[in-house]
Amino acid sequence: MNTNCSMLTEEEMSMIKKTLEIKKENLRNNREFRLSQIKDSGEVLKDAADMAGHEEDLEKMWFFLNRDQNNEQKVGEALKRIDNGTYGTCKECDGPISFKRLQIDPTSELCIFCKNELELEESNSRTHQLH
Ligand SMILES: [Zn+2]
Repeated sequence: MNTNCSMLTEEEMSMIKKTLEIKKENLRNNREFRLSQIKDSGEVLKDAADMAGHEEDLEKMWFFLNRDQNNEQKVGEALKRIDNGTYGTCKECDGPISFKRLQIDPTSELCIFCKNELELEESNSRTHQLH
């Protein structure tokens, strides 16, 4: 098996790991905050005469909560990839993902070429759907 063909130096890897760990911590704090907000507004809801506005707020809160949870999962997976030595390698072509790209999005699983190709495919299928 072709493991750890990433071009990251140890120093770059530990920088990214630190970024991911901070990100994870922030996301976890966010999640706890949102959950307590949802819980609070649920308690308010019992007495509220006007439920429509609350439901909308609640929907928004769930939306952000889901988004944060997705991000948290992605960050967790990236940290796992660091541990098992597959981090920085493209999921599609096994090529290295550049440090610059990982600095911008440390959870990226695709190299810039595969990512571009994927986006091209997506925008093509969107265009097809329009007609
Ligand atoms: Zn690739």
